[in-house]
Amino acid sequence: MLDWLIIGGGIHGTFLSHALTAAGGVRREAIRVIDPWDEPLYLWRRHTGKCGMVFLRSPSSHNLDLDFRALRRYARVAGVGAEHFVEPYARPSLELFQRHAAHVLAEFSLADLRVTGRARRVVRIRHGARVETDAGAIDARNVILAVSMNEAASYPEWWSATDRRFSHVFELNRDVEPLSGTVLIVGGGITAAQKALESVATGLKVIVVSRHDVRESKFDSDPCYIGPKCRRFFLSVRDSVERRRIISSARYPGTIPPDVLNAFRSAVARGRIVLKVGDITRASSDDSTGTVNLSVVARDGTGPDIITGDHVVLATGFKTGPPASELVAMTARDFGAPLAPDGYPIPDRTLRWTDCIRVTGELADMELGPPSKNIIGAHHAARLILSSL
Ligand SMILES: Cc1cc2nc3c(=O)[nH]c(=O)nc-3n(C[C@H](O)[C@H](O)[C@H](O)COP(=O)(O)OP(=O)(O)OC[C@H]3O[C@@H](n4cnc5c(N)ncnc54)[C@H](O)[C@@H]3O)c2cc1C
Repeated sequence: MLDWLIIGGGIHGTFLSHALTAAGGVRREAIRVIDPWDEPLYLWRRHTGKCGMVFLRSPSSHNLDLDFRALRRYARVAGVGAEHFVEPYARPSLELFQRHAAHVLAEFSLADLRVTGRARRVVRIRHGARVETDAGAIDARNVILAVSMNEAASYPEWWSATDRRFSHVFELNRDVEPLSGTVLIVGGGITAAQKALESVATGLKVIVVSRHDVRESKFDSDPCYIGPKCRRFFLSVRDSVERRRIISSARYPGTIPPDVLNAFRSAVARGRIVLKVGDITRASSDDSTGTVNLSVVARDGTGPDIITGDHVVLATGFKTGPPASELVAMTARDFGAPLAPDGYPIPDRTLRWTDCIRVTGELADMELGPPSKNIIGAHHAARLILSSL
């Protein structure tokens, strides 16, 4: 029987396997991370690599190693130039973040802790839990659910799943076709802006269709909730519905950090990107010309205008949670574990959801608050879990 089994080997699961072995005294042979992909951080690398991202939105202190200064130290030793950081908070380039993450994975042999497979069910056994997986049953005294919504891209109603000219930046079952001509990018947040800038840089014509005007925000959630002041306030609220309300108002989906927004606005001003604000009511394709059309109704109700291009690329993010909702609902039933009305686990202060199951990432929303899904959420989760060992 393992001491620990972590379900999900992305940023959170991998970071926790590192924290438990390097700082929690857990023996390497007593811990495993189960994840369906061949390598650690696969979804993180795939998604960040496909959305035209150049710099992370979070500071360099939020990295895959335990020490907040590790990425900066790595950059210094490796002779990485200042062009790999942007202010404020020395946000690292994606290239540097990935290099450092690969360095941490190699230095601590974290890939060796992995089992390839998908968890299907968690059942109670004496002294722990049995996790039924594609790779057979695995017994552990402690289980951590470290899954995310990153496998579930969000599609609008008018979506055409069969037409190869329609794709989603974050879809997993196929790669975006090589783009040519005019690309219609749907979305109004950081992914749409980055993808648009990347596309014009490769010589494509770009029209961005957004439901709202572009909005600026340095971070994707209120950074106050990373620190003690707002965290104390969040934890002082006992009601899970009220906690959800706080989380929703402190998260800023569909926003763009200033450096990306400035570049986007200047490309719009120079006519290199066209921004069209309105609701898409219909999509169609014309096989005789090989083009795709979007019907867009303006916010004042006028239209629809027909916008024509060669490809439609969705930058519409992910479905809303809870992640692994079936597994979570089944586990809640089997273990009698508490759920909030929106289906999210209600763990205790050390992220313990049942006597032998903990949660992290978005599944720990109710305890980690607005930054739960972010890299800093994994650092907070590790601190809370280690404090209880
Ligand atoms: C494009 C993009 C850019 C981002 N940029 C930043 C940023 O700059 N800064 C920041 O702090 N955050 C950022 N985030 C948010 C966050 O850090 C990432 O989403 C991160 O990947 C979340 O880590 P995670 O471990 O929760 O999820 P993931 O990295 O998605 O890992 C979850 C893993 O669980 C696996 N899994 C799911 N179900 C099962 C199952 N049943 N059994 C076994 N395994 C399962 C999945 O396949 C996946 O491998 C970004 C997110 C995206 C999508």
